[in-house]
Amino acid sequence: MKRSNHDRLGRLIGVNNRLVIAGFNAAELIAIAGQSPCYIYDKAALTERVETLRKQLPEAIKLHYAIKANPMPALVQHMAGLVDGLDVASHGELKVALASSIKASDISFAGPAKQVGELTAAVVSGVVINVESALELARLVDIAQQTGRRPQVALRVNPDFELKSAGMKMGGGAKPFGIDVEQLEAMLSDWPIELEFRGFHIFCGSQNLKPEALIEAHDNTFELAARLAAFSPCAPTHINIGGGFGIPYFPGEQALDIAPVMDNLRRLLANLPSSLQGCEFIMELGRYLVGEAGVYLCTVTDIKVSRGQSFAMTDGGLHHHLSNSGNFGQVIRKNYPVVATNCLESDQLEAVEVVGPLCTPLDIVGAKVMLPQLNVGDTIAVLQSGAYGATASPQRFLGHPEVEELLI
Ligand SMILES: *Cc1c(COP(=O)(O)O)cnc(C)c1O
Repeated sequence: MKRSNHDRLGRLIGVNNRLVIAGFNAAELIAIAGQSPCYIYDKAALTERVETLRKQLPEAIKLHYAIKANPMPALVQHMAGLVDGLDVASHGELKVALASSIKASDISFAGPAKQVGELTAAVVSGVVINVESALELARLVDIAQQTGRRPQVALRVNPDFELKSAGMKMGGGAKPFGIDVEQLEAMLSDWPIELEFRGFHIFCGSQNLKPEALIEAHDNTFELAARLAAFSPCAPTHINIGGGFGIPYFPGEQALDIAPVMDNLRRLLANLPSSLQGCEFIMELGRYLVGEAGVYLCTVTDIKVSRGQSFAMTDGGLHHHLSNSGNFGQVIRKNYPVVATNCLESDQLEAVEVVGPLCTPLDIVGAKVMLPQLNVGDTIAVLQSGAYGATASPQRFLGHPEVEELLI
């Protein structure tokens, strides 16, 4: 029986049983990138993902890219040509977004513990600030007085509901993110005249593969936005409904079926309360837009057997790809899809422990992965690696070379 360990390959296109991206095989991609290990991001796959989503997304909903999923400047610039806006979560990301073709009023800045310096940069550049605390609001009033600028402000809401089945919950209950719904009425009824009120940001969680959970969260989000609009100092001009769309990583996971989610959004938009009519709605997505368009490539440097278990050692590992190692929010470690780039499918597979060069048992590229016989010099690819890769990893740990990134 022909077996493969990549039945859920998403976008991988094999040619003659080899990994090929943008017409190049792994050795050619490494040559262009300049080294192994490297991340390869596929421009055509990024474009296709956004275009496919746009065909289904109601026209009234603007699409933003949350750049912390992958802030590589060239990739952000490519995405800027495809989406309506960018969401940033730090001063560094703000600068990357401002360098793109997206205008400042379509950039929003969320995140806890914003420093006065980054708030000032946001006010002066004219981006929308999603405020996460009462003190942050007060700081913006000071900055308005000092700079003579009018801050564009939305309130990030910590809702009184959760996004069920989310990989990471970021709303509901006691959270460092956003302002509790219960505290908003007082804040809105005493709105400082120095600040321009734009609306609300309601982001509940990340990496969700269940349409029914997203539908429930959207129902709750629209209902909450209508409740809050009633207290607002003026009609909200925009409501950011968050994102949270997931991608399949692990055996048994199915790609998210967005059709019912989009049908429900269409229904919600057709039944808007008058307080929300004329409002711009924004969906912000990170991982869903970029995660499937990237692979991580590394090279086998040694092979050995220890007490009956085969090991393949590689030049790449958790210092470049922490989330693949299972140490970035996973409770039980599972393998990302891992393939040998020159032999995607084979009827002779064996279980091999693929590990990186770090002196820690946490440095796992793939645990007991079914792969064809490997040799030193073979290239391994970790798929589904376009999001939360290079910049979500401890690259200085152990002092190995940093990873290269190539958008092609
Ligand atoms: C991280 C984050 C996102 C992106 O989440 P994904 O799961 O990558 O889509 C969107 N919005 C905010 C506020 C975030 O903090």
